[in-house]
Amino acid sequence: QYKAEIIAVGTELLLGQISNTNAQWLSQQLASYGINVYNHVVVGDNLKRVEETFALAESRSDIIIVTGGLGPTDDDLTREAFQSISELEIIEHPDSMGKIKHFFEKRKSVMTPNNRKQARVFKGSEVLENKVGMAPGMILTHNKSTWAFLPGVPREMKQLATDDVFPHLQKLTGNKDIIKSTVLKFIGIGESKLEHELKDIIKAQSNPTIAPLAQNDGVVIRLTAKDTSMEKADSLLEQTKQQILHRVGTFFYGVDDQTLEGQVITLLKQQNKQIAAAESLTGGLFMSKLISVEGASEVCSGGIVCYDTTVKENVLGVSKNTIQSKGTVSEECAVEMAVNVRKQLNSAIGISFTGVAGPGEVEGHPAGTVFIAISNHTGENLVEKFIFQGNRNTIRHRTVLKGLEILYK
Ligand code: ATP
Ligand code: MG
Repeated sequence: QYKAEIIAVGTELLLGQISNTNAQWLSQQLASYGINVYNHVVVGDNLKRVEETFALAESRSDIIIVTGGLGPTDDDLTREAFQSISELEIIEHPDSMGKIKHFFEKRKSVMTPNNRKQARVFKGSEVLENKVGMAPGMILTHNKSTWAFLPGVPREMKQLATDDVFPHLQKLTGNKDIIKSTVLKFIGIGESKLEHELKDIIKAQSNPTIAPLAQNDGVVIRLTAKDTSMEKADSLLEQTKQQILHRVGTFFYGVDDQTLEGQVITLLKQQNKQIAAAESLTGGLFMSKLISVEGASEVCSGGIVCYDTTVKENVLGVSKNTIQSKGTVSEECAVEMAVNVRKQLNSAIGISFTGVAGPGEVEGHPAGTVFIAISNHTGENLVEKFIFQGNRNTIRHRTVLKGLEILYK
């Protein structure tokens, strides 16, 4: 049983300026190769402490992956620290040096002496070509431990790990099993209902394992499969996914990194429709969520935050009569908001949110009472009333989520 350890070098990690996503990603990947990670260590750019960290790692771990500190600047100390504990010789790697020289020539800029540093490698190490940056990575064996040195920049680290380090470790450990997982995402169905619908499948199944999990944005099911190749594991996952979708597919909206707002944007693009929002209790949260998706500009025209009644009336043009006779927390008000924002912002779809975020009541309606209306350029209007539970911001969050759900369906 191999024990792996991941060391991230960099003071900015200790200061909390960036989070250690390298270790997170490496751990996930190593798990899929059946390699157990026993320790994550973060150490600042300090020679003595990096040396101590390396010495400790070598005393307890079989596989040690180091990220960061390979760059050209003075605070990049990974090489120096490992040399001091290993007494390995450092040499200049001609191919890497050639690449660095070429880089500067192409840009007609002058190479400073410290840039040479990036081409320096441990004698006898396997040098890993960095296809997306300058500093090469290295793999070497020292005192029975396998060391991999990778750049700190995440995309460079991932490229070298995927192309070189994982294949190397797979050979080393002789572990043939690949563990792969995928996450199926659902909206509009609760965890217990989902579990109930899939009870027999979950019970009968051990590969892949099926684990439902409630999250802020709906429910997810994590499938984890184990097999001798990536293709076989993928096909196990696909079979079970189809089995699950056959039962609860109407609530399914995406896998893994896909988000509900992302799927709504994709759908609007396919339909070639622009959307505008009139937001009262959500205060812009809905549009903000949509606009967080890359490429939202093609389908989001904009929104009007009409929190105060006078803004609903004077800016959005909700009729006085509606406000006086039905109130702002009403079907009628929601529909007028949706129709008017669609027309004013010249869009195919208008959506509106009006209701009571709480904690107090409004117009005799308890906190959590929400109306969502959708107005289509074809003249169809749809309006629904909801009662959401929770505190003020939970209610606002649930309102936005429900709006996205309605649009996606
Ligand atoms: P460079 O050649 O860019 O100097 P390097 O190998 O010296 O690379 P660092 O200087 O330690 O690496 O880090 C480069 C950048 O990569 C950091 O500014 C940071 O944005 C990112 N980074 C470093 N370590 C991590 C980490 N553990 N997790 C996420 N991002 C990281
Ligand atoms: Mg650096």
